[in-house]
Amino acid sequence: MSFNPADNIQDLQYFGEFGGVNPSISDSSTYTFLAAKSMMDTFEGNLEGCYLYSRHSSPTNLFLGQALAAMEGTESANVAASGMGAITPTLMQLCNAGDHIVSSRTIYGGSYAFLKNFIPKFGITTSFVDITSLEKIEAAIQDNTKVLFCECISNPLLEVADIKGLAALAKKYNLKLVVDNTFSPLQISPAVLGADVVIHSLTKFINGSSDTVGGVVCGTNEFIDSLRSVNDGASMLLGPVMDSLRAASVLKNMRTLHLRMKKHSENAMYLSDKFEQDGLKIVYPGLKSHPQHELYKSMYNEEFGFGGMLSFDAGSLQKADELMELMQKRNLGYLAVSLGFYKTLFNAPGTGTSSEIPADEQEKMGLSDGLIRFSIGLDNDIERTYQEMKACMKKVDML
Ligand code: PLP
Repeated sequence: MSFNPADNIQDLQYFGEFGGVNPSISDSSTYTFLAAKSMMDTFEGNLEGCYLYSRHSSPTNLFLGQALAAMEGTESANVAASGMGAITPTLMQLCNAGDHIVSSRTIYGGSYAFLKNFIPKFGITTSFVDITSLEKIEAAIQDNTKVLFCECISNPLLEVADIKGLAALAKKYNLKLVVDNTFSPLQISPAVLGADVVIHSLTKFINGSSDTVGGVVCGTNEFIDSLRSVNDGASMLLGPVMDSLRAASVLKNMRTLHLRMKKHSENAMYLSDKFEQDGLKIVYPGLKSHPQHELYKSMYNEEFGFGGMLSFDAGSLQKADELMELMQKRNLGYLAVSLGFYKTLFNAPGTGTSSEIPADEQEKMGLSDGLIRFSIGLDNDIERTYQEMKACMKKVDML
């Protein structure tokens, strides 16, 4: 039977303490034991099914972790308080002082800032490379390289990483391939394609209601246990734990993820097609004109499409700002960072979500000032949205 991430989520059943159709929420930071020995055994990791302290693990966070592991096809998962709370402990767990990371140069600005400005103080260095070139990536690997890091669909340029090719390189050089799959939940299953660790910012599509931040690391039992180790686990010791009440609400939202992703993809495909026909230079992996369109097709879970993210260059920052302000005024979406909301969100990443990347680096990677990144919403009548967006573009002399 072929791998279907949405079916895997659907097949998980959890009941509440009193037969509730949702699991009970563990509203406690600490847990009692009838016998002192059981507490000691739990502390040492020798007793299954008992809980000690909620920074280490809690029933509700474990339920959410199981659903995310099922979605990604990994043995286990550890949920975190944010996407950055998942990325940073993972990289710190995998690398020691003196080690090196090869990272895609087009990644979320916070991940870039962490690798470029923060982690060097622990003696860990990073080479930033064009992720679309396996040759350049291989050339950047050094004797002390431990990790390849990338996003499946990069933020904000929507470059597509060749996960199978990267996994083969990771295997050849004995590295760990860590993939941030925030832009493409359900559409791409990096672990099935060979990635060792898959990360999400749950803040985005997976939760889908822009009411919380959250993150997850999916991987082998061995790796997830190492993150949670009371002695030397980066997640346990740095402490970015998700609250149980939030974990319960993210789990409920995950139950509709498949429907939402299909609609995000359908709407983004529709707008990309139409605006490309109108002469705009749209970047969207679903378009034949996207340089990695065929690569994406070789990796995706077809029924979930090409995702909800698209971008195009408005020509200048001034034009981009004018257009975004007008679209917001006409209630077509919100001028906001983040993504994966039911409403369309847009921002100019050069001065927004990627502003941590210096101007000369932005230029090298092709991130222009006028680039607008759209996270397309769940609009019921996308033709109506298209007509209204087109009217805005005409008004600011873009069409
Ligand atoms: N990864 C990607 C691709 C993102 O876009 C973001 C946030 O925008 C993050 C990670 C960080 O997630 P969080 O804001 O939940 O810490």
